[in-house]
Amino acid sequence: MAGEVIVRFPPSPTGYLHIGGARTAIFNWLFARKHKGKFILRIEDTDVERSTKESVEGILDGLRWLGLDWDEGPYFQSEFHQEHVDVAQRLLEEGKAYKCFCTKEELEKKRQMALKEKRSTVGYDGTCRNLTPEEVREREAKGLPYVIRFKVPKRSGKIGYDDKVLGRIEKDYSEIEDFVIVRSNGRPLYLLCNVVDDIRDRITHIIRGQDHMANTIRQILLYEALGATPPVFAHMPLTLDPKKRKISKRTHGEVVSVQFYREHGFLPWALVNFLVLLGWHTSDNREIFSKEELIEAFSLEGISKANAVFNFNPDDKEKVKKFFTDPKALSINAHYLRTIPVEELAGYVEKELRDAGLWDEAYKGERRDWFLKTIDLIRTRFHTLKDFIGPGRAYFSDEFEYDQKALKKNIHKHPELKELLPELGERLDSVDSWTLETTEEVVRAYCDEKGVKPGIIINGIRTVITGQLKGPGIFDCMVLIGKDRVVRRLKECGALYE
Ligand code: GLU
Repeated sequence: MAGEVIVRFPPSPTGYLHIGGARTAIFNWLFARKHKGKFILRIEDTDVERSTKESVEGILDGLRWLGLDWDEGPYFQSEFHQEHVDVAQRLLEEGKAYKCFCTKEELEKKRQMALKEKRSTVGYDGTCRNLTPEEVREREAKGLPYVIRFKVPKRSGKIGYDDKVLGRIEKDYSEIEDFVIVRSNGRPLYLLCNVVDDIRDRITHIIRGQDHMANTIRQILLYEALGATPPVFAHMPLTLDPKKRKISKRTHGEVVSVQFYREHGFLPWALVNFLVLLGWHTSDNREIFSKEELIEAFSLEGISKANAVFNFNPDDKEKVKKFFTDPKALSINAHYLRTIPVEELAGYVEKELRDAGLWDEAYKGERRDWFLKTIDLIRTRFHTLKDFIGPGRAYFSDEFEYDQKALKKNIHKHPELKELLPELGERLDSVDSWTLETTEEVVRAYCDEKGVKPGIIINGIRTVITGQLKGPGIFDCMVLIGKDRVVRRLKECGALYE
């Protein structure tokens, strides 16, 4: 690519970082990293009523957690207010914009008329476009409020651009109304501020959602009026919920925030990997990418035209069960839980255990080896980090829950285990060296002696010592849970029949 690539992520700080915003940031960040360019963070905080400091903090925190580092910023749009005002003034002076004194009521009346007459363009009719300087002065002298409108050039034909995702996008000049760039309270509008900032930041590519397409043509006119070359535009598909509604903070609340995934046991890179697949793909539809692989594979050409569906459970906010979100997101998270270096996983699990009050400093000292082996063993079936304190709790605590299905199938269906398992506990108590071999030997010999199928005993042991229906090899589990705990749990299993 000729010249340096500079992209930006310009969130409006009016709430948390949601997954749509995060996806936009990811696409831009990947594009910058791929082309060894710059990723600029710019906070569009000009909507003073809705922008909050907490939101800014939340967005920065979310980006940091996802590992999306920025090269410049955060810049704050509000700090460039004077520049925005000056640019509007310049457009006025150059005759590229004009003051419009039409009142809301007048505009509404005209709109209704146009609708009634079924005119194709319902936009502003240009009443104030041709006011003479005297007429303008007169109105100003009367203190009449005005907005500043951009003077769309009177040209025949179309204006357009080559969207990197959607191809050629065009619009007839005659269909573009003279749009407002400064409100009557003197505040420049987003449409203008955004362009002024992008020119100042030397942005080369604008990668944003298709919901911004309505602005793009008008912004291209502003670039032209300001004597700047427009950047390349790439409009990404929208993210929809399973009912095909646009995902938004307002409709869906917390379940679509990045924070929600963080709090529900997602690994940051797993979330990045999942989000990038919402609206982007490689020709072989690959699903798992390391950071380096993704940077290498990413291209604007791979962005889909069609909207992407995020299959979370929008109406299941309370039931944060195993499948509380898109199964693909969970399976990608499970993949990373299974495959990241165990030392790296240890840091995440430590946090979970600490928060749950289950952390033991020895896991960093004399029991480090045990801790690493344990999480390495149990991670194979887990979907989120929360599973370490859920289905994996029995390894770290004597207080754990029994899965109801497991109790029914492995315990209650076999009343004979009420006597057998405590007796097996006694046998195991006399084992001196607690290893895979010795535990297996004792259990198998016991099954033979009692004439019970090993499967019944083994499943029983599993549920009694871990609370679970399924899990890794039982002797591995026994060794890691440790002799004392295994023996005690087996001896006391009668309580499960009460
Ligand atoms: N502040 C806008 C938003 O959060 C960004 C618009 C843009 O990318 O140009 O949607």
